[in-house]
Amino acid sequence: MPETLRLEVTGLRRSFGGAPVVDDVSLAVAAGQVTCLLGPSGCGKSTTLRMIAGVERPDSGAIRIDGRAVFGAGVEVPPEGRSVGLMFQDFALFPHLTVAQNVAFGLTGEKAAKVRRVGDLLERVNLAGYGDKHPHELSGGEQQRVALARALAPRPRVMLMDEPFSGLDNRLRDGIRDATLEVLKEEGTAVLLVTHEPDEAMRMADEIALMRGGRIVQRGAPYNIYNAPVDKAAAAFFSDIN
Ligand code: ADP
Ligand code: MG
Repeated sequence: MPETLRLEVTGLRRSFGGAPVVDDVSLAVAAGQVTCLLGPSGCGKSTTLRMIAGVERPDSGAIRIDGRAVFGAGVEVPPEGRSVGLMFQDFALFPHLTVAQNVAFGLTGEKAAKVRRVGDLLERVNLAGYGDKHPHELSGGEQQRVALARALAPRPRVMLMDEPFSGLDNRLRDGIRDATLEVLKEEGTAVLLVTHEPDEAMRMADEIALMRGGRIVQRGAPYNIYNAPVDKAAAAFFSDIN
């Protein structure tokens, strides 16, 4: 038996006011794999992610998570039933809750197990001892790590990340990217990471899906895409990497 893909998107389409914004997008992500949806601003990345999360309705196409249809052929599972974790640029931690309460927010079940899970995650994002602090006492990078722990807490099958690092200081960003990747790999989560920054995709992706004008124009391992871009526009897009 081949390994079940954690996320499988087929022929996804969405138009706004008659203009196609996501145009026949297909993607697959296996467990423990990071796929980057990379492309310039306005090409349809966030719309794609929002449809997978279930907060935007596709016009057509199919979405499967862990082998189960969550959209398509008469099926439409609501966002909370899809086993997806979400991380966005705006971390949106709950300001009135402590760090530990933020991480525990999506957890159900026995108290002792929740406390263990929260403690374990805070340790892994290097914030052991921060549980009783409030978000405003933390730096941007620390808040981002709390958001990662919170998104991972319920063990989502798929993590959807939309430009999660773009609000961070340049000097911190590489360190936080690496630390985030390490935690995601340990958890074995399948990740779809949206970014408009080629260097972020080169650093984090196992596979890049290059998007332009609502369509995926090329996909492959980062260095294959970098070394053999499909056309001049793709080459130009990568050319500002240092
Ligand atoms: P990206 O994340 O790649 O920057 P988006 O998916 O946010 O791109 O947007 C793609 C295009 O779809 C943009 O032109 C945007 O203005 C348009 N768009 C997105 N959401 C809506 C909406 N709810 N109504 C109308 N147009 C939208
Ligand atoms: Mg976007």
